[in-house]
Amino acid sequence: MALRIAPGSRITVDNLARELNVSQTPIREALGRLEGEGLVIKTHLIGYSAAPQISRRRFDELYDLRLLLEPEAAARSARRLDERRLAELKEVAGVMSRGHGGDERVRYSSFARLDAIFHDRILEFAGNDLIRQTLAHQHTHFHIFRLMFHSRVTEEALDEHQALLVAFAAGDGKAAERAMREHIERSRDRLLPAFE
Ligand SMILES: [Zn+2]
Repeated sequence: MALRIAPGSRITVDNLARELNVSQTPIREALGRLEGEGLVIKTHLIGYSAAPQISRRRFDELYDLRLLLEPEAAARSARRLDERRLAELKEVAGVMSRGHGGDERVRYSSFARLDAIFHDRILEFAGNDLIRQTLAHQHTHFHIFRLMFHSRVTEEALDEHQALLVAFAAGDGKAAERAMREHIERSRDRLLPAFE
């Protein structure tokens, strides 16, 4: 996430085991998990490498997909939310906004993980598992947050999440749809300079 291992570069189990002073088993387990999250690629006979940055074309396709699916899902979610679900969304959004102190890059990557959970919960509450899985398989949040480290990326997203929560609390499907569309469009615009 923090690009301390450059995108596309080789990751050797031996080196990591030595560097972290642990056996190879936990290293292999960790790499397997990261592979599942799309952050590490395993190539037959070659081994592990850090996932490459997404291309501009893939980025555009990803945002197209999100804009087709997530605003509608937000509208459905808003109409189906109960107190417990709303509290869950507020909790995740709250933890994101409390991410002060510590290493900036660690903070940033934990924000990316929480943002992934926040969006996934909304898709879960919308009630269509196939749509939820389709987006989960893209590992959108890991890819987009690797593009750029900037406090603007997180601070502005927090305000947009707040607008979403207001719409959810009111059970207002139209407002939730609009808020999600704006959030995704602004997120895209914030990250576009990464390709310049
Ligand atoms: Zn978000």
